[in-house]
Amino acid sequence: MGREDMILTVKTTAQTELVDITAEVQKVVRTSDVGDGLCMVYVPHTTAAVTINESADPSVKADILMVLNKIIPWDAGYRHLEGNSAAHVKSSLVGASELIAIEKGGLVLGTWQGIFFCEFDGPRTRKVHVKVLHLPS
Ligand code: ZN
Repeated sequence: MGREDMILTVKTTAQTELVDITAEVQKVVRTSDVGDGLCMVYVPHTTAAVTINESADPSVKADILMVLNKIIPWDAGYRHLEGNSAAHVKSSLVGASELIAIEKGGLVLGTWQGIFFCEFDGPRTRKVHVKVLHLPS
């Protein structure tokens, strides 16, 4: 008790895509029976990431992808022979993990916040590790 590990599977359907995984992460937290603690969401991939942003208006995730695709074009004379350097750069910029507070058994997220898995070289089947840590009060 007090610690729960869970690996979520995310199937993406486009080359670049933001997938709202808030409900799945919240479910792991709720079933872990941790009152106060921390939830780490970690993506073990070099061409994907995780971020927290507005989930109410889907235009926001579209705009995030639009800007990332604009500032990090797919073709830009990269050296990496696999041909997916843009995805690697996006992965590092956005980041592989998020840490979210848990209070009263649930994630502390703002009204408009959601947790998004970020696909940058899809479509693929991806993993997201969710670790719930209990903080004794
Ligand atoms: Zn590569």
